[in-house]
Amino acid sequence: MILKRVLPFAKELLASVVEKGDSVVDATAGNGHDTLYLADLVGKNGHVYAFDVQKEAIQSTAEKLKLANLSEQVSLIHDGHENLAKYVSGQVSAAIFNLGYLPGSSHEIVTRGASTIQAIESLLHLLKVGGLIVLVVYHGHEGGKEEKDTLMDFVQQLPQSYAHVLSYQFVNQQNDPPFILAIEKMKMS
Ligand code: SAM
Repeated sequence: MILKRVLPFAKELLASVVEKGDSVVDATAGNGHDTLYLADLVGKNGHVYAFDVQKEAIQSTAEKLKLANLSEQVSLIHDGHENLAKYVSGQVSAAIFNLGYLPGSSHEIVTRGASTIQAIESLLHLLKVGGLIVLVVYHGHEGGKEEKDTLMDFVQQLPQSYAHVLSYQFVNQQNDPPFILAIEKMKMS
């Protein structure tokens, strides 16, 4: 397949901007796949701040990191990403969000537009120029369309001189396939 699927493309975007020694954010740790990927990208001298509101997500991510010997460079934060500014203060080069619910868990605990936007606003302050925020937008579940619409309204009004926003989406797939929003910071403010 020539056209990259959404998840490999999200990883490729992260890899294009993250260097060894960087600080980065996984805003929705879930089962820890992205946290693990980022921990490997930043290496032992870098740092990953990984957030999740569910204890089981934090535990499952901790186990994965331990098995891969990558725990040292990760802070697992059992709190909402809307509180990110309380935990992260230095410059970050990238952040990833996988919106929606934790596969195999309660469909009632989902990301929400208002808190997702609050986290993006905090990240835009912390992001280095040229840094990326990548969002994988799942929107087929209850509340998903509302979050998607709120998010689209927000990113479409970001000034072009401040941030470039890409939407990467297959338009003829069935069942509300996920799509990517990628935000590249172009200048300090
Ligand atoms: N990236 C994950 C992985 O690799 O397995 C999947 C993430 S899953 C689609 C979405 C996660 O967001 C769930 O684990 C859920 O608990 C979490 N979540 C929901 N609201 C949140 C919030 N306000 N802050 C942080 N995490 C949140």
